[in-house]
Amino acid sequence: MITRMSSLFLRTLREDPADAEVPSHRLLVRAGYVRRAAPGGYSWLPLGLRVLRNIERVVREEMDAIGAQEIQFPALLPKEPYVATGRWSEYGDTLFRIKDRKGADYLLGPTHEELFTLAVKGEYSSYKDYPVMLYQVQTKYRDEARPRAGVLRGREFVMKDSYSFDLDDEGLEASYRKHRGAYIRIFDRLGLDYVIVAATSGAMGGSASEEFLATAEAGEDTYVRSTDSGYAANVEAVVTPAPPARALEGLPEAQVHHTPDTPTIETLVDFLNGAGLVREFTAADTLKNVLVKTRMPGQKEWTLLGIGVPGDREVDMKRLEAGLEPAEVALVEEADFAANPFLVKGYIGPGALQANGVRYLVDPRIVTGTAWVTGADKADHHVVDLVCGRDFTPDGTIEAAEVREGDASPDGHGTLVAARGIEIGHIFQLGRKYADAFELDALGPDSKPVRITMGSYGIGVSRLVAAIAEQHHDELGLVWPRAVSPADVHLVVAGKDDTVFEGGERIVGELSQRGVSVLFDDRTVSPGVKFADAELIGVPTIVVVGKGLAKGVVEVKDRATGERTEIDVDAVVDHVTGLVRG
Ligand code: ATP
Ligand code: MG
Repeated sequence: MITRMSSLFLRTLREDPADAEVPSHRLLVRAGYVRRAAPGGYSWLPLGLRVLRNIERVVREEMDAIGAQEIQFPALLPKEPYVATGRWSEYGDTLFRIKDRKGADYLLGPTHEELFTLAVKGEYSSYKDYPVMLYQVQTKYRDEARPRAGVLRGREFVMKDSYSFDLDDEGLEASYRKHRGAYIRIFDRLGLDYVIVAATSGAMGGSASEEFLATAEAGEDTYVRSTDSGYAANVEAVVTPAPPARALEGLPEAQVHHTPDTPTIETLVDFLNGAGLVREFTAADTLKNVLVKTRMPGQKEWTLLGIGVPGDREVDMKRLEAGLEPAEVALVEEADFAANPFLVKGYIGPGALQANGVRYLVDPRIVTGTAWVTGADKADHHVVDLVCGRDFTPDGTIEAAEVREGDASPDGHGTLVAARGIEIGHIFQLGRKYADAFELDALGPDSKPVRITMGSYGIGVSRLVAAIAEQHHDELGLVWPRAVSPADVHLVVAGKDDTVFEGGERIVGELSQRGVSVLFDDRTVSPGVKFADAELIGVPTIVVVGKGLAKGVVEVKDRATGERTEIDVDAVVDHVTGLVRG
């Protein structure tokens, strides 16, 4: 195929778009791949659409290879199935809800578990029908709080979502493994550098959910990995190893101390160490109580919640939110303090919380027999040696404390280091949540119903365009891996005279006949403009037909390495075809 730049619907930009913060966004706009049409909504121009389609093709090939079958649902969906699973309200503000002319409620699908479950229920009834895996490549809608970085986080985006339906847990495990393998092959073929991280806290079993993160500074996900083992996890999924509970016998009594002007952990520790008490204290000996309020979807009223963490750590809101999902979480305001006078700002202790019915959840390090310095619920007063399991009993534990580099790895091997990534895929053993909601059963061999168990698996197809660009670019522009490049070769004619143009035409024609797709810069602009555009657009092989043609040579440039090679004009078609075929 030949794409002539003289008529291609493309105008590259010399300037960075004002709203672009990350390299992929900047370059995809400058190189004319995408254009912003709405907040979180992007149009695909010809070159961008090709990259998107190339990614879709790789995804489809690997999904088909594991036996998944492609179907397609509408994006405009009725409310009822989502009410049945609770997601109509659980999704909160992220769900686009609309009404039709008759006033009936609809939504724009953010993900399609409900529809797939109903589809299988509609078609299948016997155990002999299972297992089955179905997928679609489809436009999804989410009213993201912070759409950002172009197609990286859109409000309308393309996702591949697939779902597996099995009769038992072993079947689900097998479907999950197949998807995991397919995802590895997809992301390898797309030339991505990525990690697979644990995504749930493990409460549902070790491999119940994993995320694929493309390593990138621009990523919104922070993950940690061990220095000494294969452990890797999303920060939200890190499970803090709890120390063993200790004996209560012989521990000193709790003592309240007057600690004037010590509203922060730092001032408190300084005061205690200056007070000449029997031992030295560090921030880790203090118990910091952070007050938040939560609200379940669909509720109006907020409920107070106390969170206790060791004083040397901050509360990580993302971890806290993940732990409280689907509840909404907000920080308390002055008005909340005013309405609840038992809350003494800066001096909140477990005592007043528990005495006033405020649920109190603590970090897993706060186990029975540990002694803490914490607020005494009275201005300017702290209590020392307040013992967990003796002087207060938390309502449960929560993973809310920040995870830090240097923390012990939860698997007991090595310490944690942190890095950032872009979530490109997510595989998840759902179990029977949706099958229960819709009573999806198969009639077993003994004619008894068997409840189906499901998995759901997503890939951010449009996000991948940005994720790949994020990993494959330099200061001059994009540098596409072959598998996704909008063309195999970018051929630039550098020169004005007809022989150069004719030479270019001939090579392009022969390449095309060999099945090589060529982006042909046949414009009459200066060579400098053409070279700059070729670097910006990022096709992996650039052929320059110019002055050398008179001597019988053309130049072949590797976009990634910058390496230039002079090739005999008669050999260039073979040479380039060889490069393209790898
Ligand atoms: P994120 O944490 O980035 O919001 P998510 O956990 O909401 O992602 P899933 O619901 O698992 O994502 O969706 C499956 C895949 O769809 C994700 O792994 C991601 O690659 C992609 N995706 C999710 N939200 C968006 C978005 N707003 N724009 C583009 N791609 C998205
Ligand atoms: Mg999301």
